[in-house]
Amino acid sequence: MKDCLFCKIIKKELPSKIVYEDDNFFAFNDINPVAPIHILIIPKKHIPSVNSLTASDKELIGELFLVAQKIARAEKATETGYRLTFNVGENAGQTVEHLHLHLLGGKKLLWS
Ligand code: 5GP
Ligand code: ZN
Repeated sequence: MKDCLFCKIIKKELPSKIVYEDDNFFAFNDINPVAPIHILIIPKKHIPSVNSLTASDKELIGELFLVAQKIARAEKATETGYRLTFNVGENAGQTVEHLHLHLLGGKKLLWS
């Protein structure tokens, strides 16, 4: 996707603090962290949001959670706990239209 911010980050046309990369996924530190650990994990495939997922994405999304687990372990968050969040659409405050899983941790997280 030509004008997608996260597609540009994947292609390294824009800088980011890369945490993880493989053939299908890319993970980087959020520019405006709300917790000591705040990582965005994204598929390299441009999918706008959870609303756009189809049955053909089943395997990719399953793999996404295994990547999240791997990163959480590397960040030493599996013992203390962490949160995985997808914001979907306006009410949830989704601002970037490229599917991204927030991994939050490193402190006791509040729920609101
Ligand atoms: P959303 O609100 O759509 O769920 O999350 C988008 C996230 O992307 C926000 O937490 C925001 O701080 C982060 N973000 C927006 N632009 C950039 C950027 O250019 N670089 C990085 N690393 N994060 C960004
Ligand atoms: Zn994109």
